[in-house]
Amino acid sequence: PIRTRIAPSPTGFLHLGTARTALYSWAFARHHGGEFVLRIEDTDVARSTQDSVDQIIAAMKWLGLQYDEGPVYQMQRLDRYKAVVDQMLAAGTAYHCYCTPDDLEKMKADQEARGEKRRYDGTWRPLPGKTLPAIPEGVKPVVRFANPADGEVSWDDLVKGPITIGNKEIDDLIIVRDDGVPTYNFAVVVDDWDMRISHVFRGDEHINNTPWQINMFRALGAALPQFGHLPIILGDDGLKLSKRRGAVSVTDYEDNGYLPEGMNNYLARLGWSHGDDELFTLEQMVAWFDGSHLNRSPAQWDPAKLLWVNAHHMKQAGDARLAALAVAQLKKKGIEAQADDAMAARCALLKDRCQTTVELAGWLEMFYEPQAAPQAEVDQHVTDAAKTALRTLRDKLETATWDKAGIAAAMKETLAAHAIKMPQLAIPLRVVVCGRAQTPAIDALLALFDRQVVLDRLRTV
Ligand code: GLU
Repeated sequence: PIRTRIAPSPTGFLHLGTARTALYSWAFARHHGGEFVLRIEDTDVARSTQDSVDQIIAAMKWLGLQYDEGPVYQMQRLDRYKAVVDQMLAAGTAYHCYCTPDDLEKMKADQEARGEKRRYDGTWRPLPGKTLPAIPEGVKPVVRFANPADGEVSWDDLVKGPITIGNKEIDDLIIVRDDGVPTYNFAVVVDDWDMRISHVFRGDEHINNTPWQINMFRALGAALPQFGHLPIILGDDGLKLSKRRGAVSVTDYEDNGYLPEGMNNYLARLGWSHGDDELFTLEQMVAWFDGSHLNRSPAQWDPAKLLWVNAHHMKQAGDARLAALAVAQLKKKGIEAQADDAMAARCALLKDRCQTTVELAGWLEMFYEPQAAPQAEVDQHVTDAAKTALRTLRDKLETATWDKAGIAAAMKETLAAHAIKMPQLAIPLRVVVCGRAQTPAIDALLALFDRQVVLDRLRTV
């Protein structure tokens, strides 16, 4: 069966790159009717936090990437790693190494002086007929993997195509540190093996680790998963997307009013394509995502395109849902609002011109707080003639039927009474009531206000 996983290290928020890998892994599993696992790689004890785990889980939930198993914590699997290490030590595919950090530094400095590559030289690797050094006192050993000395490692990468590395290029990797905690490369192999992971998608910063991992799978007699290494995401300066170059945390995008379907759609296209399709749902992605058409070259993060994609999903989103999201955004501005039918009707009218729910809340503010238009707009549009017309309109609105048709009728009568054209009334009306010269149809918009609020604002002219 197809089984994929996402294996974040809980040392911070869910990074956009990890979110993209999670999305691909999830969609691939769903496409094949397989399973998706969340594994928390918390062996870097000093930097791992529960707060980070909570953030990662919340972000996965927000994106809608449900996992079928997990979270599995590596630090709860230490006994299992120990059992596998013991098995490897007994089989001779791993060995103790008593080199201290100083020894290693000296070894590698000497290699460098001789113009050789810096690598572990195999001092403690047992070989037939070789006498090992005497075990030094007081040194806690690490465990190293006895990497095959000859031959080569090859795999057909799902993203990058065939890759081959000679075993001569890689040294004997530390798999258990002197404090007994396994290293990433070892724990990941035991886990992917135990969890029967069939396809590993991850960032291509791990591509150099894969030959070791393949050799360990083989040493353990474990079935090899297939690997797909996704290219990095670049910021608009051509450097790796990072915190210094804008938001890289999924949670920040949630806070900034993006919809999860907008994020998923954008992340999906950032490294994968399905013909010319730019805008699609998660269901469509699942139907299409079979692991082909993954880009080999780095993707460029494009905030403008993300906004464009999100705007599309804003238009598709249900009004009641947008109302609830808008209420949450308004709350952050100190405005207490209800996600009721009236709010949903306002969202229905405004959502087409909003790229995010933050922008939507920016529009909705006018229903709660008087909005001051820029003085230049006031001076230009709210002329003495306009004020006279607005007073007539206000009188008519006192008794008009409070709906779009009733408000439209009152406006028409006002135009006739002053012999003016629609823009001469509608624009000052917008500036005074809404604080902006451009809005959706003003009769429809005013109908979504409380009559008294509109009358009060018109009384100020
Ligand atoms: N913990 C690793 C990371 O966050 C996982 C790499 C992998 O998927 O093997 O980069």
